[in-house]
Amino acid sequence: MARMIAASCRLCRREKEKLFLKGTKCTTDKCAVARRETPPGQHGQRMQRKGSNYLIQLREKQKAKRIYGILERQFKNYFKKASAQKGATGDVLLRSLETRLDNVVYKACFAESRAKARQMVLHRHVKVNGRKLNVPSYQVVPGDEITLSGSESQLKSYKETTKILEDRTAPEWLEVSAENLTVKIKRLPERKDIGEAIQTSLIVELYSK
Ligand code: SF4
Repeated sequence: MARMIAASCRLCRREKEKLFLKGTKCTTDKCAVARRETPPGQHGQRMQRKGSNYLIQLREKQKAKRIYGILERQFKNYFKKASAQKGATGDVLLRSLETRLDNVVYKACFAESRAKARQMVLHRHVKVNGRKLNVPSYQVVPGDEITLSGSESQLKSYKETTKILEDRTAPEWLEVSAENLTVKIKRLPERKDIGEAIQTSLIVELYSK
């Protein structure tokens, strides 16, 4: 399975903002964006200039891909499906990304980053409605119940993670039990439930060219 392998901090530096790809490490003063403002690479300094409309739209799309850990082709497919559905394409697109199984595990505070949540799914530590599922892109629907599974020590470490992340609150569309390591999908997320600062209109403009 293809996956994003670039170093997380480089991706943030390229977008010139914190994308919180490394979980709790991102809130320390070691964050690369906080320490160095220029984009990575030998031409990073030159990239400081403000770009054209096209570049602004492109960067917004890249940022969304990086936040959700998705590759180009997959992202394009999400967009195609979103534009074929009823409703504002940008909102539908964001909702599809937000209802990915790996994102739900992350938003439920069972993993400190989406990358870690994706790994948990791939390692079959996540059950959906009682069945182990190793598909990070699975789209959850209202009524789905997600449970963490694994050895006693793994479950213990997941519980410790929820304690470390207790400052983070799960969104309202999820009903989370940190005690039982379960999450129930109450409803689909709306735009206001999705905290990510992604300007979907720029992505729609980019793909509509
Ligand atoms: Fe991004 Fe986190 Fe690295 Fe900071 S520490 S640059 S927010 S991945």
